[in-house]
Amino acid sequence: MAYTEDRAAWFEGQGLWQHVPASDWNDWVWQLKNRITTLDELEKYMVLTQDERRGIAFAGHKLSLAITPHFFNLIDRNNPNCPVRLQVIPREGESIISREEMLDSLGEDEHSPVPGLVHRYPDRVLFLVTDRCASYCRYCTRSRLVSNAQDYNFHPEYEQGLRYIESHPEVRDVLLSGGDPLLLSDKKLEHLLSRLRAIKHVEFIRIGSRIPVFLPQRITPALCDIFKKYGPIWMSIHVNHPKECTADLRAACERLSFAGVPLGNQSVLLRGVNDDAGTMKTLVHRLLQMRVRPYYLYQMDLITGGSHFKVDVRKGLEIIHALRGHTTGYAIPQYVIDAPGGGGKVPINPDYIEKITDEEVVFKNYEGQTYRYPLTNTPVTRTIKSASTT
Ligand code: SF4
Repeated sequence: MAYTEDRAAWFEGQGLWQHVPASDWNDWVWQLKNRITTLDELEKYMVLTQDERRGIAFAGHKLSLAITPHFFNLIDRNNPNCPVRLQVIPREGESIISREEMLDSLGEDEHSPVPGLVHRYPDRVLFLVTDRCASYCRYCTRSRLVSNAQDYNFHPEYEQGLRYIESHPEVRDVLLSGGDPLLLSDKKLEHLLSRLRAIKHVEFIRIGSRIPVFLPQRITPALCDIFKKYGPIWMSIHVNHPKECTADLRAACERLSFAGVPLGNQSVLLRGVNDDAGTMKTLVHRLLQMRVRPYYLYQMDLITGGSHFKVDVRKGLEIIHALRGHTTGYAIPQYVIDAPGGGGKVPINPDYIEKITDEEVVFKNYEGQTYRYPLTNTPVTRTIKSASTT
């Protein structure tokens, strides 16, 4: 169902944790220490469905349960289908594995020359610097290693990773991801960024993080100073539903922007969360208000136990079609499928072109009306008099 909440309403405050001093609430370490991680803790705050109880029992073998108090406040505890709830509270569906699904759906492990580093494209590397996150998304592409619930034994090797990048001059772009890189201490992060910045051939550093959404308190002035010092650092945040756009997230994005960090958003198309055009339109508008450019909309990767989130690609195309021409161009993300097995991101777009000949392109606009763009240049009349005739 489309999300229709008042467009001017942005959740703010401490919600269920009114009794906690503001100094604690605004401390990211307090938020981490007070995460909800067990069935008992969850049941203190809400009545769970059988489906959820069974999912939680299985989570310890797949991907741990953890929800920050900040994010928990966004859950509608009276609605089992709440789009925030679906993202972080496990369901029994996680234990059902389909034939099409894979543990390492993007084939990252086979392109990993040192632990924690993936080098698939010639000019860029993915540097997985931790297996921890502030909260765990039930559809996570890296659930094989994130939270280490599957005994994956993930141990990123910073020094080996840095040396690998130093000795590969073709690497111009480094993406720090994980897990969530912003869970590292300021000291560790500064060390990593300073080492990367010192490598002459590394032109572009970016971070993939859901911390601003789960734990906006982590975006401290001290962290922003580090980004200023080693910038430009680009960042992709990860918001799937407009309810996640809180006043605290908006303020965190503002701090990052003012520190010179360009912000993009990556959403995953998820059944029951954002698989309708109205919700997506509200989301992309909120992102722009927060200074965040909608960047990618991902078709969900084929991860094991993820089929209950899977949306038909035709639905995704319908959503993009409903955005294009109907809202600001900046608001429209690129819909992509990350090719299973490691073929990279492939853009998929609604088909506007009817035909292309040597003479013309025939296409439809956003309203379904047909237009023609000629490819020929046919002189009709001379409009500029030549010098000899004057
Ligand atoms: S924050 Fe990212 S890495 Fe962590 S669980 Fe969510 S999707 Fe996975």
